[in-house]
Amino acid sequence: MAVREILQIDDPRLFARNALFSPEDIVSDETAQMIGDAFDTLQDSGGYGLALPQMGINRLGFVIGVPGGNPFGHEEIEPYAVFNPQIIVGDDEAKVPGPESCLSFANNQIVASVLRRAEIVVVYQNIQAVRVRETLRLWHARVFQHEYDHLAGRLFVDGEVEPHSWTTRSAFRAQRLGSAARGVAQQG
Ligand SMILES: [Zn+2]
Repeated sequence: MAVREILQIDDPRLFARNALFSPEDIVSDETAQMIGDAFDTLQDSGGYGLALPQMGINRLGFVIGVPGGNPFGHEEIEPYAVFNPQIIVGDDEAKVPGPESCLSFANNQIVASVLRRAEIVVVYQNIQAVRVRETLRLWHARVFQHEYDHLAGRLFVDGEVEPHSWTTRSAFRAQRLGSAARGVAQQG
């Protein structure tokens, strides 16, 4: 397994068409290697999700994982791989703001508040090529939607960014961790 380069927004592979995985593809040695590299790259980056196009692989897949939670109080998510995902239910009227950044946008150093659906129902195939149907909420739903958008060539900056919410990662960290230290409630 290996840490791979994460493409930045000047690379057209981030915006190219992505191909489906067949069940045979999913369980292949090649995919096991690819997903192993994706987990290594994700862990090395400090991010919460990584889509295959961000590694220059134009296939419909991504990994998500936040072992141990994160410094901002978000839930732990056991690392898992997603193939051929679809969001089959999502209420556009019930969106919530939350901070996002992207490993492919300014190397994750720019943060903005983005409106996302608070609850989604998703279907995808897991690493055994078994079909999974799940309801995801709040932060987990946010991470899933962010990665899902990558597969359609969309970055968070193309989404519903709240005006005047842009900040740098260092300023965001200082503000968030300062708030946490003072016991101020965290949001999404
Ligand atoms: Zn991203």
